[in-house]
Amino acid sequence: MDGNAPEPQYWEKLRLVAEVLRAVEGPIYIATHVDPDGDAIGSSLGLYRALKALGKDARWVADPPRFLRFLPKEEEYSDPVERLPMGATLVVLDSAEPSRVVGVPVEGFVINLDHHGTNPRFGHLAVVDPSKAATAEMVKDLIDLLGVAWTEEMATPVFTGILTDTGNFRFANTTPEVLRKAAELLGYGVKLAEITDRLQYRTPHYFKALGGVLSTLRFHFGGLLVTAHLPEDLEVPEEDSDGFVGVIRYAEGALVAVYLRRREEGVKVSIRSRGGVSAQNIAVRLGGGGHVPAAGATLKGVDLEQAYERVLEAVAEELRRAGYL
Ligand code: AMP
Ligand code: MN
Ligand code: MN
Repeated sequence: MDGNAPEPQYWEKLRLVAEVLRAVEGPIYIATHVDPDGDAIGSSLGLYRALKALGKDARWVADPPRFLRFLPKEEEYSDPVERLPMGATLVVLDSAEPSRVVGVPVEGFVINLDHHGTNPRFGHLAVVDPSKAATAEMVKDLIDLLGVAWTEEMATPVFTGILTDTGNFRFANTTPEVLRKAAELLGYGVKLAEITDRLQYRTPHYFKALGGVLSTLRFHFGGLLVTAHLPEDLEVPEEDSDGFVGVIRYAEGALVAVYLRRREEGVKVSIRSRGGVSAQNIAVRLGGGGHVPAAGATLKGVDLEQAYERVLEAVAEELRRAGYL
């Protein structure tokens, strides 16, 4: 089966998830992926608030990055747990792999809601639909099915997840359906201008690091690939580092952009692509995953130079497959 095909039984499966969640009497844990982005935090916080409104014993295990911390109240997110109590239900959102889930062990009755084509459909109940722009778009549908009355507090994180995963409604995943859902959420009181403004806030670190990163910019394969990395002498929190690929991807002529930074376990790469070239294929070759236009991988136990070598190889292979080399 093509892992990127739309889920044909989307509504049936989501209805089942809603039924299960409505029936659960014990604790429901909600968790998302490591280095959470707007969709990870938005989809999980939206679902958490909806389940609380239903009177459920819901717990959201997360560590929201600074630029998203304006969304939750501090008492809404809880610290990592080593074990789940017997009989617990776990909902994991936006997590392409069980190993990317952070803060909880993947155990108990596991519900996996995601839109990454590379998701192996793990868990007891997996709804994975790569045709969805964001996991938050799926949470919008799920909250409708749960029959909870929408409030601004629920709509704001869900809207934020859709907003960030569509690049502020600019990427190709911005379907008429996405805009209809977003419009409906706006109707519940979401403050669009305030949120888009808040989401662009970055620390002074970020702006200083940006200069350093841009000084490493290089073009390869006649300009088809643009790369940059975080210089070794610069330390920035991962959440500040995350956005750099979004800057270099606009180098004219480039079909692929790769941003590399050293992490404890090796080198993390963020990949973006266009023009029939698949960032997902490149990421999978590097042991990672993601979507066709945006994907990532962590290369374990390598230094920057070795990481560049492997990236260039993987990109060359994909450019050949797509007929550019
Ligand atoms: P990033 O470059 O971290 O913004 O990631 C781009 C997309 O690829 C996001 O949707 C990530 O969830 C996904 N992704 C990043 N790294 C991995 C990985 N190691 N395995 C699977 N998916 C990933
Ligand atoms: Mn995500
Ligand atoms: Mn997502």
